[in-house]
Amino acid sequence: MSMSNPLLWPKARVIWGYGIALLSVYTALLISRWPPVRLETAPVSLFLGAIMLSAWFGGLGPGLLATALSSLAFDYYFLPPIYSLVAKPGEIPRLVIFTVSALFVGSLSAAQRSATESLRRARDDLRGTVKELQKTNEALHAESLERKHAEEALRHAQGDLARVSRITTLGELTASLAHEVNQPIAAAVTNANTCLRWLTRERPDLEEAREAASRIVKDATRAAEIVSRTRLLFKKGTAQRELVGLNEMVREMIVLLRGEATRHKILIATDLATGLPQVMGDRVLLQQVLMNLMLNGIEAMKDVDGKRELLIKSQQTENEEVILSVSDTGVGLPAQQADQIFKAFFTTKPQGTGMGLSISRSIVEAHGGRLWADGNSPRGASFCFTLSTKNEGHG
Ligand code: ADP
Repeated sequence: MSMSNPLLWPKARVIWGYGIALLSVYTALLISRWPPVRLETAPVSLFLGAIMLSAWFGGLGPGLLATALSSLAFDYYFLPPIYSLVAKPGEIPRLVIFTVSALFVGSLSAAQRSATESLRRARDDLRGTVKELQKTNEALHAESLERKHAEEALRHAQGDLARVSRITTLGELTASLAHEVNQPIAAAVTNANTCLRWLTRERPDLEEAREAASRIVKDATRAAEIVSRTRLLFKKGTAQRELVGLNEMVREMIVLLRGEATRHKILIATDLATGLPQVMGDRVLLQQVLMNLMLNGIEAMKDVDGKRELLIKSQQTENEEVILSVSDTGVGLPAQQADQIFKAFFTTKPQGTGMGLSISRSIVEAHGGRLWADGNSPRGASFCFTLSTKNEGHG
C-alpha cells in the first residue's frame, strides 16, 4: 500500500538497504559456520561478498553497517579466542586488515553503484528531453497543419467571394442581355409597321418599303446574335469540366450562407449520403445552382412563423445518378403558377429578377441532368436536381 505513495518510496528503499545488510551478513555467517561446508577457514570472502552486496543495494550506510557487523562476527567467531570480542594481540593485524579491506570493498561498491545510478538518471533525463523535443516537434507539426488548414479555408472563402460576385454578375448580365434583345425587337416592330404603311398606301412606295424591310432583317439578325451569345454562356464546350464532390460543395455553401440563415433564425440541416460518387461538371456553375436554390429557400422562410429549416439532402440512385434536394419550410410554391417558376423573368418578389431558376435549370440541363420543384410536406417547397455520375465528360 505504501508503494502507492511516491513520498514513502525513498524511506522504504533505505529500510530495504539496511535489511539486506543484516540479512547478507547473517547468511555469510551461517554458510561459513555450516558444518557440512566447513568454511571457517575462508569466511573473509563471504563477508566481503555480503558487504559488496549491501553497499551495492543500499549505498554507503548499509555498506558501513555490513562492514561493522562482519568485523564483529569475524572477530567473535573466527579469531582466537573464539566466542570473544577481545582478540589475541597477535590476531589484531588480521582484524585490522579485514576491516580495512571490507571498508575499501564496501566504498568501492557504493561508488560504483552511485556512478551507475547517475548514469541511469542521466539516461532518463535524456529520454525525457528527447520526449519533450518530440512533443514540441509534434506540436509544431500540428500548428503548421492548422495554419495550412486556415490558409486553405481562407482560399476557399476568397473563392466563395469571387463566386458570389460572379453570380451577381451573371444575373445582371442576363438581365442586361434581355434588355439588349428587347431593343432590336422593338425596332423591328416599328420598322415592320413602317413597311406596312408604305405598302398599304394608295400608291405603295416599294423603295421605302424595301428599306424598312432590310432594317427589319438587320434588327432580327442583331437579336439572333444576342441570343446565340447568351446561349454560348451555357454551352458545354465553354464550361470547365472537372470531378466535383457534391457533399463537399454542400458543406462549402453552408459555410458561406450560414450567416444569412442565422440572421433569419433558419436552421440548416443536412442528410448527405456517404460514399457519394463525384460528378463531372463545372464546379462554379454547379455552385451557382445550389446557391440559388438555398437562397430561394431562405427567402421563402424569412417571414413565416413556426419551424424554419433548410434541409439539404444528397443521395445516389440506381441509374448512376445523384440527386441533390433543397427543401424549406417557407411559403411554398406560388399557387396556380407553380409551372411558371422556371420561366425567365417570372418572379413573385418585388426585387426579384426571375432569372435564378431559369439559369439554374439551364446549367443543370447543360450537365445532362434535370431540375424540378415540388411541394414540401407539411409546408414549403422542395427543389431537386439530378446529375449523372457516369464520367462521360472526360474527353
Ligand atoms: P427570383 O428569386 O429572382 O424571383 P427565381 O427564378 O429564383 O427568381 O424564382 C422564381 C420564382 O419562383 C420566385 O419569385 C418564387 O415565386 C418562386 N420560388 C423560387 N424558389 C422558391 C421557394 N423555395 N419557395 C417558394 N417559391 C419559390
